[in-house]
Amino acid sequence: RTDKKVALVTGSSSGIGLGIARQLGAAGFDVMLHGLLDLEEGQALANEFTDQYQVRSAFSNADLRDPNEVGALVRQCIDQLGAVDVLVNNAGIQFTERLENFPEQKWHDIIAINLSSAFFAMQAAIPLMREKGWGRIINIASVHGLVASAQKSAYCAAKHGVVGLTKVAAMENADAGITVNAICPGWVETDLVKPQIQAIADQQSLGYEQARAELVGQKQALREMTQPAMLGALAVFLCSDDAATMTGTALPVDGAWTAQ
Ligand code: NAD
Repeated sequence: RTDKKVALVTGSSSGIGLGIARQLGAAGFDVMLHGLLDLEEGQALANEFTDQYQVRSAFSNADLRDPNEVGALVRQCIDQLGAVDVLVNNAGIQFTERLENFPEQKWHDIIAINLSSAFFAMQAAIPLMREKGWGRIINIASVHGLVASAQKSAYCAAKHGVVGLTKVAAMENADAGITVNAICPGWVETDLVKPQIQAIADQQSLGYEQARAELVGQKQALREMTQPAMLGALAVFLCSDDAATMTGTALPVDGAWTAQ
């Protein structure tokens, strides 16, 4: 790239975020990495990005439950890499339990990390994007931003919220060269879904592979998990000029989960 742009990907120390950060790095974006790693481990990952993709990279382990840390993360990206041209709000957690038994703290954590951190990161990043007249915001929602599953009250509330927030931010910034879209994955092969696979394996006395097929087949017509790199490729497309008029969307990548 001749016009070097900077991408901040929250929760990019593993899973989907790391897959997206790698694709953006490979496409020539400087990358601000983030996640709950030691600073030393995180710096090692940033060094790996610099070596592998020949881009500048930095790392933060801000705890996104705290709005002040969200703001500080965006400012650190601007201080160390000079801008936030692309913001990918990806960090998220899961917890499954019936609503009446759902632990209060888990509710607060899921809303804070999965929903409020996207709001506060956008609030911090949008002014600079507007000044530059260019920006890309990609919010990693979920099929659970579009439809529900039992035992996921906090997660579905947060992800439906992310889809709504995406639409408003898209409308407010359509005059400034900024697009805001949500990606709504079905099952993606990451650490976040491992406890759910293990639960099925335990309940039904199945092997791990069988339990995974069972889990995916309950919801998706296409019984394969999406890989993080596939979502990374979609993110790179959303950052391209060809996607300049795609804004305010919620894009399912879900093996026909929400087609039913
Ligand atoms: P993951 O557990 O591999 O990654 C989660 C990331 O968020 C990590 O980098 C972690 O350090 C970070 N994180 C967690 N708590 C944090 C906190 N308090 N402060 C800062 N960072 C924190 O999970 P994943 O599957 O890659 O999930 C990434 C996103 O994709 C989440 O928003 C998730 O809801 C969404 N998603 C996942 C799936 C799936 O099937 N895996 C499907 C749809 C949507």
